[in-house]
Amino acid sequence: MQWLIVIVLIMGVYYFFIRKSPRKETPKKQEEIMIECEKCGIYVSNKEAIIQDGKYYCSKECCKGK
Ligand SMILES: [Zn+2]
Repeated sequence: MQWLIVIVLIMGVYYFFIRKSPRKETPKKQEEIMIECEKCGIYVSNKEAIIQDGKYYCSKECCKGK
């Protein structure tokens, strides 16, 4: 009956890894969009852009500086 224990063990490990591995597909929402900086006009991705008062800036310098 040892083989049964081995199979159960393998199944357990298999299950463990399947549950652990993130199977989330990257959602389409996270597509990068290029946004123009309000201050200097440089295009930055929406991930990097800084949003201040509903406006987009490429960096903190642009965000603060006047
Ligand atoms: Zn800028």
